[in-house]
Amino acid sequence: MNAIAMSVLLFCSFSMFTGTMADRLWVLRAGAPDNRRGNFAARLRSLLVLGFGQQRLLLERGAGLMHVAIFVGFIVVFTRTCTLVGRGFDANFHLPLLGGGLGLAYAAVKDTFEAVVLLALGWGIWRRLVIRPRRLHLNAEGVLILVWIASLMVTDVLADAALFTLDPANPESGYAWLSTACAGLFAGGTAASTTAWLHFWFWSHILLLMAFLNFLPFGKHFHVLTSLPAVYLRRLTPSGALEKIEFEGRETFGVGRLEDFSWRRILDMYTCTECGRCNDMCPADLTGKPLHPREIIINERDHARAMEAHLVNVGKLKAQGRQAEAAAAIEAFGRPALIGQVNDEEAIWACTTCGWCASSCPVLIDHIPNIVDQRRHLVMMEAKVPAALQNALRGLENNSNPWNVSSAAREDWIGDLPVPRMRDKGSAAYLLFVGCAGSFDSRNQDVMRALVKLLDRAGVDYAVLGNEEGCCGDPARRVGHEYLFQMQAPINIETFKRYNVRKVVTACPHCFNSIANEYPDFGLEGVEVIHHSQLLTELVNEGRLKPKAGADLNVTYHDSCYLGRHNGQYDAPRAVLGAVPGLSLTEMPRNRREGFCCGAGGGRMFMEEHLGTRINHNRIEEAAATGAAEVCSACPFCLTMLGDAIKETDRSDSLRARDIAEVLLERID
Ligand code: SF4
Ligand code: SF4
Repeated sequence: MNAIAMSVLLFCSFSMFTGTMADRLWVLRAGAPDNRRGNFAARLRSLLVLGFGQQRLLLERGAGLMHVAIFVGFIVVFTRTCTLVGRGFDANFHLPLLGGGLGLAYAAVKDTFEAVVLLALGWGIWRRLVIRPRRLHLNAEGVLILVWIASLMVTDVLADAALFTLDPANPESGYAWLSTACAGLFAGGTAASTTAWLHFWFWSHILLLMAFLNFLPFGKHFHVLTSLPAVYLRRLTPSGALEKIEFEGRETFGVGRLEDFSWRRILDMYTCTECGRCNDMCPADLTGKPLHPREIIINERDHARAMEAHLVNVGKLKAQGRQAEAAAAIEAFGRPALIGQVNDEEAIWACTTCGWCASSCPVLIDHIPNIVDQRRHLVMMEAKVPAALQNALRGLENNSNPWNVSSAAREDWIGDLPVPRMRDKGSAAYLLFVGCAGSFDSRNQDVMRALVKLLDRAGVDYAVLGNEEGCCGDPARRVGHEYLFQMQAPINIETFKRYNVRKVVTACPHCFNSIANEYPDFGLEGVEVIHHSQLLTELVNEGRLKPKAGADLNVTYHDSCYLGRHNGQYDAPRAVLGAVPGLSLTEMPRNRREGFCCGAGGGRMFMEEHLGTRINHNRIEEAAATGAAEVCSACPFCLTMLGDAIKETDRSDSLRARDIAEVLLERID
């Protein structure tokens, strides 16, 4: 077309783009280090399945599929765009392999995808302007980008249409069906006017593309460029595991300002698409708390943008090894407080760490570590702890339980039951890790008594640690008191080692998660950890527990976030219930991966819930609407929250909450 014009455009566009991207990279460099190297195979799998394969969006109907269509169409059309750039220099340019039959097939595929993308974009614009789903912000950028992408498609189709009008013998004209169909638009024009149209649509396409490339880094559509690297560099540890802090040689802990975040978390901020999926079923968001996970990420991103020049400077200083100057620049820079002004402090405390947000995010943004790191700063650097939590932390420190009951009373729940202690037995096939709720909370003591009776009936070789057991550390770690967690976990690990424990079974998903996913960072090796629902399923399947027939019972099951979403155990508790003759299970609408939190995780069990409506009430409404007589659970925290909600909403006559072990034992006895 015009080699000089194309050269100038390419030079200007790529110079600007490179400058912007370099600044973004300096901003990332301003963050703390985070090693995301290694495990190439797992990273590649994520990239293929979750990045290119768009797995999370494919699981959705509607908007998810629309996005997949646009994503695939974009990739297909990108090949065409490269060809058009080449044609700026040589009118007959083809990419390698696309000059012959493959190129003709590509022309047909490309036109098909352009048609699909245009339909998807039309639906996307309608959805934003007319349907307006709750989770979407109506903003001009969203609509502008959809129109922009549509314009890229339209200009390409019309450039080809003009070309085919001028040259009906062009081999692609029979294949690029959409452009061929549009060629009629130019019928009747002179060769000169059609040539002018060809140039107009061609250069419009190129200009729109160059402008699009340079606009992307400034809006939420930066994710077009960052999402694939973000997926590749995802965290590969279990979603329920928090990162260990190395206290040695450090003076600050947690995140109190943006530069304290690792570069990977800053990449998260740039990658957010603002789709709002994370808000969709966030229990805090849905019950009127000031926490909206999307806004946490967006607020931080806007904060990063507002201080970009400073961050670029810090990034450059760090890259040059001038750490002291970087630290001084960070110290001297005036900015709004991350916690309090950028993020609402109440929002940081409102998170139940239920994991809905991260599990629903199409670009794998990791909200929980972001939030917990801010709690770590509040608790360990500023000694700012919600009043109601102070007693729990004192209890954890002094008595190794958040109920702050004397640690000497840890095995009182056993009473005169013949429960073996490790100190007497020396070893056992299973260590039954009771947990603080099973040890000190009266309702959950009933569950433990039911469980040990089942284990006895099945002839399981087990023992408990009794007063030698300490809190698993989950509440301390989730509320940000990492120091306290690191005092507790090693004590339990040493005790496990002393008794050569090889298998741990627990009825508490929080203990399960900490021991299985977090203790390995502190030296626990070669220990299999299972949840009581898994062991009970095994015992029923082996015929060691044989539930008898009884009255019909309709129940519903509430998924614990730390058993289900964080650890993928959805079937075992349902299998235990399914083994009870006459029991029918009616699922709540929000179940399994979409299970709704009870409100107790993340240390919320020990805090006041004074904002909005109560999360456990929201859940119990849903349980009651199934018409079930019982809501079953497999977590002591969930059982407490559901039981409280039943009482507080005056449903004690029509609904009761029980653990799956209690339901099973009733039919064994
Ligand atoms: S973990 Fe749960 S409560 Fe916390 S922000 Fe995410 S969805 Fe909301
Ligand atoms: S954090 Fe993820 S789920 Fe939430 S708005 Fe951003 S991209 Fe969407």
